[in-house]
Amino acid sequence: MSNDLVARCSELILQSKNTVVLTGAGISTNAGIPDFRGPQGLYTSRLYDAEKIFDIAYFLKDPKPFYEFAHDFIALESTIKPTVTHNALAALEGAGKIHAVITQNIDGLHQKAGSQKVLDMHGNFLKSHCLKCRKAFDYRELKSMVLQHVIPHCSCRGIIKPDIVFFGEDVKYYHQSLELAQSADLFFVIGTSCVVYPAASLPQFVPGKIVIINNSKVELNMYNVALEIESDMDVFFNKLMDTL
Ligand SMILES: [Zn+2]
Repeated sequence: MSNDLVARCSELILQSKNTVVLTGAGISTNAGIPDFRGPQGLYTSRLYDAEKIFDIAYFLKDPKPFYEFAHDFIALESTIKPTVTHNALAALEGAGKIHAVITQNIDGLHQKAGSQKVLDMHGNFLKSHCLKCRKAFDYRELKSMVLQHVIPHCSCRGIIKPDIVFFGEDVKYYHQSLELAQSADLFFVIGTSCVVYPAASLPQFVPGKIVIINNSKVELNMYNVALEIESDMDVFFNKLMDTL
């Protein structure tokens, strides 16, 4: 990755009046969260049956496979920290250079890094609700039950489900995300190969310039792609933050 790309990217950020960011699993792999769709991912490792565990109809019949996955995820979650890229995005927002982050991730790392305006399109694992009475549960309550291999139930006897989007459920914040994309003069696509809809469709609505940063090639054939940076995201953001 050349210093020229870093310089051009920082110029775009400085010129922009309304920068919006879309992030995907690639941004969290350096934090130790496997990309569920990547080569080491859940869909290919067959350690879990993704079709079952993230299917809402299956969950309502038998939440056990999901909670086996959740047990492992929670054990992992307590050990992970935001990456250089998460921290850079939070710092840029704090400096008024980023308006909002739209994410497909459920790990809450943008919030941990200090980002304020985060739209979790696929929900957030750190919040949960009883499916019967809608009572909200905080993460500590859920965590202690799951780590004891207890399937979390509310006092009303309803099942508690983390607020993540399962197959068969609508994504969250779609309209707000669409409005953000439609008003962006600069739109970053970071760590996502843009294959999971509807988040993958958001770049199509961007009137401004698009910058793609990913560790592998992203097939986004649009006239307004200003920069395509194929690099480790943390290496890139380290250099970018030194420049700005
Ligand atoms: Zn309840």
